[in-house]
Amino acid sequence: MMQVPLLDLTQQYRAIAGELMAAIQPVIDEQRFILGPTVDRFEAQMAEYLGVEHAVGCASGTDALLLALRALGVERGDEVVTSPFTFFATAGAIHNVGARPVFADIDPDTFNLSPAAAEAALTERTRVVVPVHLFGQMADMTAFRELGERRGVRMLEDAAQAIGARQRLADGRWITTGTLGDACAFSFFPTKNLGAFGDAGMTVTNDAATAERLRRLRVHGGRQMYHHEEVGYNSRLDAMQAAVLAAKLPYLRGWSDARRANARFYDEALAGVEGIVTPPIRPENESIINQYTLRVLDGRRDALADHLRERGVGSSVYYPVPLHLQECFAYLGYGEGDFPESERAAREVLSIPVYPELAAEQREHVADTIRAFFGA
Ligand SMILES: *Cc1c(COP(=O)(O)O)cnc(C)c1O
Repeated sequence: MMQVPLLDLTQQYRAIAGELMAAIQPVIDEQRFILGPTVDRFEAQMAEYLGVEHAVGCASGTDALLLALRALGVERGDEVVTSPFTFFATAGAIHNVGARPVFADIDPDTFNLSPAAAEAALTERTRVVVPVHLFGQMADMTAFRELGERRGVRMLEDAAQAIGARQRLADGRWITTGTLGDACAFSFFPTKNLGAFGDAGMTVTNDAATAERLRRLRVHGGRQMYHHEEVGYNSRLDAMQAAVLAAKLPYLRGWSDARRANARFYDEALAGVEGIVTPPIRPENESIINQYTLRVLDGRRDALADHLRERGVGSSVYYPVPLHLQECFAYLGYGEGDFPESERAAREVLSIPVYPELAAEQREHVADTIRAFFGA
């Protein structure tokens, strides 16, 4: 039986193994593992790739959010508004800086935080809003930028799943992740579109003061060794990860193109199948398709997942429990029914294989298997 895993990282690795090993070897020869010139070079490369002023590497995407919240001035008791339909880290980072996560519902087409719902959740204690660019498609950054300026709150983009995704503004200009936010966090967790050989992350910003604070916070809050203006963290990007990421970055556009081609194939092959909704990409968006996420209607999601597994096809539910219903956030006082679109998404979503190296027969097998389940 044909096997189609949800993600296969070994194919990407094998294709460029020589280059990756050659990139790592000098770091080992020099024995400079933490920050240093290799990290500086990768930060400069990322700043150029994204067209931003400052890029500050750190230990993970979670830490990129945490450091950014601190650098944007979030303090104990502040409120930070975000989506309940995201990976846990978005809200976990808010909690861990001592702030209160305040949730607002998503737009059902993109699964992204609704600017109108976010605005309705603002209070005088709101310091930051965190739009998450889920599954590779950007949230409406024009609206969030405008909201931030009008209401005096800052915007932290969670771009862990959307590195290099683009959005066309009303004037025709294209922007990317990190252009309009006050800061923007990335993850290089191995399953993200640009993945390290372990944990790694980065925050970017166009504001020099924010960048300076990020650089200080990642080394225990001191500009100068052993002198600490504030209490920070140990959250540094290590040089081996930077070497791997620098070697992979030139391939990122091509990988995202291949993901988009797979998505277009599914859009067509699954069009009109009754019982599922393929993921709409808004006309102004160019998604990097970190996930290709179907909605499965009529309570048949888990049955479809079983059907796929029995026929060799991997799939996964991102995310089964919205964050406002997580046990650890019971203290926030939310309940079932508070965010109906996020709750419906959690019941309906199923992500299917879309990684760049997927062979034509494999994606056909995935589409045929889904069509067969619905008798289409
Ligand atoms: C992966 C992810 C993170 C966290 O990144 P790590 O590198 O795993 O810490 C944060 N937010 C979102 C939306 C993510 O998908």
